[in-house]
Amino acid sequence: MHFDTLALQATHQPDPATGAVIPPIYLSTTFARNEAYDLSGPYLYSRANNPNREALEKALAALDGGAVAMAFGSGQAAAMTLFQALRPGDHVVIAADAYYGTPALLEQVFHPWGLTYTKVDMTDLADVRRAIHENTRVVWTETPSNPMLRITDLQAVADLAHSVGAICVCDNTWATPVLQQPLSLGCDVVMHSTTKYLSGHSDVLGGALVFRQDDELAQRVRLLQSLSGAVPAPFDCWLVMRGIKTLAVRIRAQTETAGQVARFLQTHPQVEAVHYPGLESHPSFVLASRQMQSPGAMLSVQIKGGAPEALLFAGRLTLFARATSLGGVESLIEHRASVEGPNTATPVNLLRVSIGLEYAQDLIADLAQALDSLA
Ligand SMILES: *Cc1c(COP(=O)(O)O)cnc(C)c1O
Repeated sequence: MHFDTLALQATHQPDPATGAVIPPIYLSTTFARNEAYDLSGPYLYSRANNPNREALEKALAALDGGAVAMAFGSGQAAAMTLFQALRPGDHVVIAADAYYGTPALLEQVFHPWGLTYTKVDMTDLADVRRAIHENTRVVWTETPSNPMLRITDLQAVADLAHSVGAICVCDNTWATPVLQQPLSLGCDVVMHSTTKYLSGHSDVLGGALVFRQDDELAQRVRLLQSLSGAVPAPFDCWLVMRGIKTLAVRIRAQTETAGQVARFLQTHPQVEAVHYPGLESHPSFVLASRQMQSPGAMLSVQIKGGAPEALLFAGRLTLFARATSLGGVESLIEHRASVEGPNTATPVNLLRVSIGLEYAQDLIADLAQALDSLA
């Protein structure tokens, strides 16, 4: 089945009670028992299970080809719960350019609690190999990476992780299951911030973990999710379900525009560099072409000059919202160095762009006028 069909099939779960094609939102926190004290279904209390969450989890597992999925209240709650399933003394290897919140969890929450971790350049397999030890339990990848769009060879890193019995996790938020299927490349767990492309409209926070097997780790994560209550609200689950229905068509249109924008930027005299895995100039163009269905709708651009020029350029755009986050239908632009503060490794002249569903030539004209104004 093509992914387009799969996404619709996976989210098509009519309400068994009424036949409603789009199931209602079950706001009830609790589920009643009959005279014999039996529950009428698998639901008892919404922290443990809820019909909308269960429907979303089934869909998420299907999209990534996993055995089982768990939905969380945010991407960070998903990452947090996976680390909580480890034990003090365990070691994590993480991409140095992972989403800033993931190493922040390790540093500020789990290091005091007894986890150790090593940051590596995931594109350098020798560096990954050096960092992996006997007590390494998790190798955490994210590809394409933020904000330099570096590409990790998932199959190779998963093989290295497995050589010591560790699991390989892929934060697949940027690629989405439309563009990249980490479980089929050897990864064991996929993590998503569903806040981004899966919901797609910048109006809901959510996260997910998808497991290749319903193994001991998956069951421990399920237990922690239920005990800690790091769960999404029923309405949020319903919104993510709705987003998934249009995911493939959104990604396709946004990717098409991103390619045109990247090629335009690359030729402009005020541009120093464009980072986009769909450009042949990208250092991992070949790997990206092999590993991803298409290069996606995220790119970053370095403006000639420094932070003042980059900020001036961003300030003169009229069609791009100057905001953090990504994956919505409206184009966003962000100066990452401002967000990350003085110790950032991100070049100060870099802007990260999330391409939305606007017409490509309108976005290009807007970028052109803002760039031309710098000359
Ligand atoms: C946004 C994001 C996260 C965190 O997700 P939240 O839903 O904001 O908690 C993690 N990883 C990546 C790649 C992200 O873009």
